[in-house]
Amino acid sequence: MESDPGFVAAVEEARKGAAEGGVPIGAALVSKDGTILGRGHNMRVQNGSATLHAEMSALENSGRLPASAYAGATMYTTLSPCDMCTGACILYKIKRVVIGENKNFLGGEEYLKNRGKEVVVLDHKECKQMMEKFIKEKPELWNEDIGV
Ligand SMILES: [Zn+2]
Repeated sequence: MESDPGFVAAVEEARKGAAEGGVPIGAALVSKDGTILGRGHNMRVQNGSATLHAEMSALENSGRLPASAYAGATMYTTLSPCDMCTGACILYKIKRVVIGENKNFLGGEEYLKNRGKEVVVLDHKECKQMMEKFIKEKPELWNEDIGV
C-alpha cells in the first residue's frame, strides 16, 4: 500500500508543504477505479487558512463532485486525520482512509471505524520523521493546527 499512487502523491505533497515552510502533511483522494481526484497539502501557514488541512486541500482540489464520485473512494493522508478531516471523510462517505502514521498525532480513527470505514495505518518512516522534525522546530505552529 506504500506504493499506491495515492499514497506516493500524499507523501510528495507533504514534502512540498515542508519545502514551503508549512505543516508537512499531504493527502490524496482516489476514486474507486484508482483515479486521483485531487491532492494537496496543509496550507494553513501558506494561505493563512483556518481550514486547509491536507485532507481538506485534497477535497478542495478535487472540486465539487456528485456523491457518486466518492463512493468506494480512498483518502490517503500522511498523518492520522483530525476531527474536522475525519468529519469530512464521513460526510462524503469515503470508504477507506489510509494513514501514513499516527505516532505524532492520533485523530479520529476510532470514529471512522465506528462509522464503517476501513482504516489502514502504515507506520511510514518518512511521514513520522517529517512530523517529528516539524513539531520540534515549530511547536507553536503545530499546536495551532490541532487547536491547542
Ligand atoms: Zn485535519
